[in-house]
Amino acid sequence: MEKSHLKWVSLDKYFFMINLVLFGKPGAGKGTQASFLKEQFNLVHISTGDLFRNNIKNETPLGMLAKSYMDQGDLVPDQVTIDMLEAEVDQNPQAKGFIFDGFPRTEAQAGALDAFLKEKQMEISATLALEAADDVLVERLLERGKSSGRTDDQDESKIRNRFEEYNLKTAPLRDYYTKQNKFHSVNGIGSIEEITHRLTQLINSLN
Ligand code: AMP
Repeated sequence: MEKSHLKWVSLDKYFFMINLVLFGKPGAGKGTQASFLKEQFNLVHISTGDLFRNNIKNETPLGMLAKSYMDQGDLVPDQVTIDMLEAEVDQNPQAKGFIFDGFPRTEAQAGALDAFLKEKQMEISATLALEAADDVLVERLLERGKSSGRTDDQDESKIRNRFEEYNLKTAPLRDYYTKQNKFHSVNGIGSIEEITHRLTQLINSLN
């Protein structure tokens, strides 16, 4: 009896968990949208950027390492990021699903995430990419930098470097997830409510 119960739980998890990846360049609205979607779909929101910033605030060794990359607008090395992400997933065993915000950002991270979830009989349900033109994003980020205090939002050359990193390392993930039939593009221009509506409709249409 114990055994069949376990089987049911794992099947239930496999078929009914929603695990979403939110893609988008810096400033595309990933964090804002993730906080709405996590409420609506009862998901645990994991933002690797927020995790790094918390580590920086608490002056941990991981934070100090991450800061040296983040200050330049460069990506933090893969293995450090993957380990941090996996530890965060493991801390939420009761989760009904996850929304990954800012992870994966490289093919190595995407491969590691697939393998890690598979071990737990979980998988990515869909990846949603918020699309917006660079110039709109630069304006949004410089505006955000005035109140957020984020140094990586206050300097246009650092912002442009983050876009370069995205084009070079993250954009290829479009193909990675398209091959798995899991890539969805969403217009990221409009009011916050309009974009939440687009994302919600898309998620509801997933089978
Ligand atoms: P974000 O808050 O998502 O814009 O991330 C801010 C910064 O944190 C990025 O510019 C990177 O330096 C670092 N970072 C966040 N997520 C990742 C990731 N998945 N891989 C590598 N670096 C990351």
